[in-house]
Amino acid sequence: MSPRIPFNKPCLEGKELLYVAEAILLGHAAGDGSFTKRCHQLLEGGLGAARVLLTTSCTHALEMSALLLDIQPGDEVIVPAFTFVSTVNAFVLRGATPVFADIRRDTLNMDEKLLPDLITSRTKAIVPVHYAGVACEMDTICALTSRHGIPLVEDNAHGLFARYKGRFLGTFGCLATQSFHETKNITCGEGGALIINDLSLKERAEIIREKGTDRSRFFRGQVDKYTWVGIGSSYLPSDILAAYLCAQLEAWTVIQSKRSNIWRRYAEGLKHWAEQSGVQMPVVPEECEQAYHMFYILLPSLRVRQAMIEHLKASGVMAVFHYLPLHLSAMGETFGGRVGQCPVTEDVSDRLLRLPLYNDLRPAEQDRVIDAVCSFKVD
Ligand SMILES: *Cc1c(COP(=O)(O)O)cnc(C)c1O
Repeated sequence: MSPRIPFNKPCLEGKELLYVAEAILLGHAAGDGSFTKRCHQLLEGGLGAARVLLTTSCTHALEMSALLLDIQPGDEVIVPAFTFVSTVNAFVLRGATPVFADIRRDTLNMDEKLLPDLITSRTKAIVPVHYAGVACEMDTICALTSRHGIPLVEDNAHGLFARYKGRFLGTFGCLATQSFHETKNITCGEGGALIINDLSLKERAEIIREKGTDRSRFFRGQVDKYTWVGIGSSYLPSDILAAYLCAQLEAWTVIQSKRSNIWRRYAEGLKHWAEQSGVQMPVVPEECEQAYHMFYILLPSLRVRQAMIEHLKASGVMAVFHYLPLHLSAMGETFGGRVGQCPVTEDVSDRLLRLPLYNDLRPAEQDRVIDAVCSFKVD
């Protein structure tokens, strides 16, 4: 039998090992060395963002956001019900009450039409996720947050280098977060970044990231010793990881074009079968240039989805689903989550299936995936 096709595989672009060796030999393996600075410049230059700080993960960049916005017990934070746990947990860690918004049927993004009814005087942040790297309806969301003076934090873990009406995702909110986890488009195993678009937050962000000290000011020669000036933690990655990331970021256009080719090939190869089978394919609105983070299909029911997973597995193809509705999780229920609260999330969560997508997925392998999917009869 042909080798198994994994769902995801970390792929090297070429210079990763060289840069990692260089980082070690330079003798500065701690954070904020030369490779970290190169990553900051690549991200700031690439996105046109005011300031970027590498972090140990997207989860930690979200935690930093909650600290920066001074989230307090009793504050409300509006989040999509269909997302990774960190989008919510980072704010709950500060005592916030999550307010779950349902998603749109087309893009599976937070449904902006529901937001006016969810905003209260206690709303202290709105945290949209650009699902699959396809932008949320940012005109509507930004108009709402600015009218109400509510900080916008974009969880852009899926959407690095995607755009909405020509503007890069991650540059709309006062803060935005990126992930460089192994499963994301650009990776260093575990890693993340905080994008700071509101420069009034920059100095406190540096302090929070450096254990509550003004160490960054010290290194810039602005103070002659550094000391404890506020609350914080240790959110900066080793320069060895930044070296790995730097090689990937330098190759971002290559990575994105590989992924876009794979994504388009799926869209074409599955189109006819999907139409015949009542299967929904991803929807990308015209104003969105997507990030090609994932390719998913929406099968007619949970039963069909599970049968498809088994069918693909028998052909050596690993396909996965994700995001159980957060409002119905054990933690979500403690915040009053109940069945029927976010019907689209509940429905989509049962029916979504992600197909293998990694930078080096070969055409012959992808053909095996497409053939396996198309040989499944939806009854
Ligand atoms: C992957 C992911 C995260 C967490 O990223 P880490 O870097 O693993 O902490 C957060 N939000 C979303 C939407 C994600 O997909």
